[in-house]
Amino acid sequence: MTEYVHKNVLVIGLAKSGLAAAKLLKSLGANVTVNDLKAKKEDTAVQELESLGIEVIGGGHPLSLIEDADVHLIVKNPGIPYSNPLIEKAVLKGIPIITEVELSYKISEAEIIGITGSNGKTTTTTLIYEMLKANHSKALIAGNIGTVACEVTKEAKDDEVVVMELSSFQLMGTIEFNPKIALVLNIFDAHLDYHGTRKEYAEAKGKIFENQTNEDFAIVNYDDKEVCELAEKSNGKLIYFSASQNIGKGAYIKDDTLFMDEEKIINIDEIVLPGKHNLENILAAIAAVKIYGVNNTAIRHVLTTFSGVKHRLQFVGEVEGRKFYNDSKATNILATTKALQAFTKPTILLAGGLDRGNEFDELKPSLKNVKTLITFGETAPKLERIAKESGIEVIKRVDNVEQAVYAAFDASNEEDVILLSPACASWDQYKTFEERGDMFINAVHKLK
Ligand code: ADP
Repeated sequence: MTEYVHKNVLVIGLAKSGLAAAKLLKSLGANVTVNDLKAKKEDTAVQELESLGIEVIGGGHPLSLIEDADVHLIVKNPGIPYSNPLIEKAVLKGIPIITEVELSYKISEAEIIGITGSNGKTTTTTLIYEMLKANHSKALIAGNIGTVACEVTKEAKDDEVVVMELSSFQLMGTIEFNPKIALVLNIFDAHLDYHGTRKEYAEAKGKIFENQTNEDFAIVNYDDKEVCELAEKSNGKLIYFSASQNIGKGAYIKDDTLFMDEEKIINIDEIVLPGKHNLENILAAIAAVKIYGVNNTAIRHVLTTFSGVKHRLQFVGEVEGRKFYNDSKATNILATTKALQAFTKPTILLAGGLDRGNEFDELKPSLKNVKTLITFGETAPKLERIAKESGIEVIKRVDNVEQAVYAAFDASNEEDVILLSPACASWDQYKTFEERGDMFINAVHKLK
């Protein structure tokens, strides 16, 4: 590939993806500069880049980076908002701004299965990957839970397939990106602090379909009107899935059995993953792997053994008859709603976290099995208001997730479900949702 030879490329934001993009572009002959707010000379990543002849500028985002130089392309970390003054200036100057995902597509010899949606991406990506592997197909996984996309596609061969989890932030920075299979699970209000409007958020997700041709496939949630509308952008073959109606074609449920194009795949009661929302993810995954000819034995093997991705409604263990579930990844209201719907037993909910300015009234209908609420973090007062209005009698505020586990245990009876499903991001108290979930797991183990 000669496109980037001697071209000035600015990589903004040096997380894992920025580091990978900078190294890749350097190897493709570009003149790479990296800019990162927090980068310091002594950082290993900075030293690695400098040893490759890549200049790293830390301490701010000076406008001179694009004012004084002829910048051909900007590769932006997906988390950096478009309202960043340097990015705004670059947009005005007409400099193309991409994310590392665009690069990953351009260098890929392998086909890509792209998975996006507000919720369920990691679970569906993992299911597809596991089903392909169980079928002995040559599959690689990229995204949040795996390796940075461009590092995976760089090594991928043309007889392999890369299963790639994609966020709206990543998709927004794409231009030519075109997966062989584009799968959109759902769209709910999320990340409106970044995208500004719901329309912009949906359109970012819709970019997954934009470049598809009649040789490609669009897998679409029949039950989500907004997703169906977005899929009109695709020129690929449309395949629907539905967890709520018998749609006769595509992936659907009839008489408690999952079907694909009228072929019986598996009974619901044989599936290990709990929750109706996971049936959506499973149907979507089946629709995707059937395009690659994956056989039913492989699909059934995965569905009868796979007990969930860590921090996603993960069963942690049982202590004196109480079952503990870690759903730390539930960083928005909808995810917590889905988690609550997965249980019929009396539930003690552990929730709270970063305040994004939203209220929690939408949570109310799913609180009917919740007998106790334990709160922590910035949103504790808001959640307590909802709990009071819903008639939950026991409400307790604690300082962190560890204390929440102990408080929940004290307030519990045998047969109760104790569920960490915070409905909020973790960044007010924890570096990541993983750190928050690990605190839950450790506290449960201490109880044991
Ligand atoms: P993502 O990668 O999109 O954040 P995950 O697969 O990590 O999604 O799941 C995160 C949480 O979202 C889960 O714990 C669950 O509560 C919820 N969830 C998963 N799948 C769905 C779905 N299809 N619809 C709604 N909520 C879902």
